[in-house]
Amino acid sequence: MQGIKNLYSLLKGNRLRYSIGLVCISMLNLNQIFIATIYLVIFDGIIAQDISLVLNAVYGLIALTFFLTILVLIGHILIRVSSIKAISFLRAKAFNKMLKISIQNHSQGHSGDFISRVTNDIQVLEKSLTEYLLNITGTFLVGIACITYMFILNWKLALGLLTWNLITLGISSLFINPMKESSDKVQKKLSSTTTAISDIITGASVIKLYNLKNKMARRYEQKNKSVYKAVSKRVEISAVMRGLNSFLRTFSAIGFIAIASIFIMKEKGDFTFGQVLAINQLQHGVRIFFQSLGEFLNQVQESFAGLDRVNELLEMEEEPTHFKKMPALNNNNAIAVENVSFSYNCTDTVLNNISFEVREGGTVAIVGPSGGGKSTIFKLLLGLYQPQDGSISYFGEMGHDYSIDSLRSLMAYVPQDPYLFNGTVKENISYGKKDASDCEIFAAAKAANAHDFISSLENGYDTMVGERGIFLSGGQKQRIAIARAIVKDAPILLLDEATSSLDNESEKLVQNAFSNLMQNKTTVIIAHRLSTIKNSDSILVVEHGQIIERGNHDELLTRAGVYTGLYSKLSG
Ligand code: ADP
Repeated sequence: MQGIKNLYSLLKGNRLRYSIGLVCISMLNLNQIFIATIYLVIFDGIIAQDISLVLNAVYGLIALTFFLTILVLIGHILIRVSSIKAISFLRAKAFNKMLKISIQNHSQGHSGDFISRVTNDIQVLEKSLTEYLLNITGTFLVGIACITYMFILNWKLALGLLTWNLITLGISSLFINPMKESSDKVQKKLSSTTTAISDIITGASVIKLYNLKNKMARRYEQKNKSVYKAVSKRVEISAVMRGLNSFLRTFSAIGFIAIASIFIMKEKGDFTFGQVLAINQLQHGVRIFFQSLGEFLNQVQESFAGLDRVNELLEMEEEPTHFKKMPALNNNNAIAVENVSFSYNCTDTVLNNISFEVREGGTVAIVGPSGGGKSTIFKLLLGLYQPQDGSISYFGEMGHDYSIDSLRSLMAYVPQDPYLFNGTVKENISYGKKDASDCEIFAAAKAANAHDFISSLENGYDTMVGERGIFLSGGQKQRIAIARAIVKDAPILLLDEATSSLDNESEKLVQNAFSNLMQNKTTVIIAHRLSTIKNSDSILVVEHGQIIERGNHDELLTRAGVYTGLYSKLSG
């Protein structure tokens, strides 16, 4: 019942329209009542030789059928419109939620699983609203109407049939739980195949590079097989249930008419043959009520599992709007990090008590072996995660004094492998600043050494870059990302220099674009190139989550420590 309530709650704002539609369509199920009336009037009318009674009944029923057809038409329109509205609202809500959930939840979940929640699961919900709930309500209404009518016609026959139907209901209900369990399983397995599909799309180049086609195909085949197994199990349960229901249905009809006929022939029953046929017809409605209601409830159970998964997504923790409170710092540098410690999982310390400052307009390079914690420092500076201990301040203001949005407006970030959205070059640059003018975009592209290559593209700034910028080279993508950062014109830059080598020409263009971007800005750069490292005011050597050496290039060389080793590797 709670599940149905939750489903119904999706229709907020559309409930009246949906309910009217539901009642209109449910009326169609009342045809059992009309057919029963035909049997009653026609058979008893024939026996009484009353033609006008028979004709009147037929005319009346034709008029009612016509009226019902109109009701069903209106009902379908109301149901479709309100369901589509509710579902598209839910889709938008889930999409917006994905934009807001914390980076932690993003990294813990799989993109395929998220996609499955917003596509497969919501699709099942749509089916529930447009089909399953209709079945349930229609069945319920017709059940009540048929039972009432049966009792009006003959309470003894009605009571006998009702008792028999209750027994069959008990048998059918044995299938409810296994059916729900197997439906849950199917949904989960389906979601895991979506995950595999998403993997081969996002990791297409790795799959080709490492020749993983067969491995991936086998992996998918296994998942597909497990979906097949789960669906087969569900089909088996459902087949047994349907078979049994069908047997009971036929058995009841034959048994009832046979027994009632014997009573009439022996003149022991206080009912007519018309009543027997009418009640037998009404029995369909009652059986649909007792047997199919269970079956329809099973179907709707499927969507409860989907609804739970969509709700789980909607309830995921969102990114906080502010940094948590930190101990105040008395530091007016552009960035001040003091005694910061951080762990992703609260057990393994990734950053251990690190402190550093970047003066306004200054450049700090972070260097060190992979896995040392360089990117994590960036994630904390960007407010994607919050440190468990210590403080971070920007221009003398504590991180928590800024909203996360205003904090991020202070910073432009150029990642190692910049992400381009599927759209035009111009759109991709303009993501740096809301309402950026064409002039600003062109100027930024020029400063990022991107204008020439963009102009030579078939449609210039209006060229589509393809998914993730697949139509562009690594260096071109980087220069577009740099142009995006230039358009943003933020006072702090966080740059993650690419480790992959570009050709000489491209490298020079990118380096030059970086220099243009860095003018008059405060910069923290995860650096891999000697020239970048040498030109920075200060270098932090980060290893095992700690700053093990700091100073400028010359100072660090005199220490003959880790930096000296790194330098000889880079210059060698
Ligand atoms: P670097 O940038 O120096 O290569 P990172 O900051 O990426 O290092 O990683 C530092 C440590 O944190 C590594 O041990 C890495 O496995 C771990 N780490 C990075 N990101 C996550 C994450 N999202 N969840 C858990 N651990 C992570």
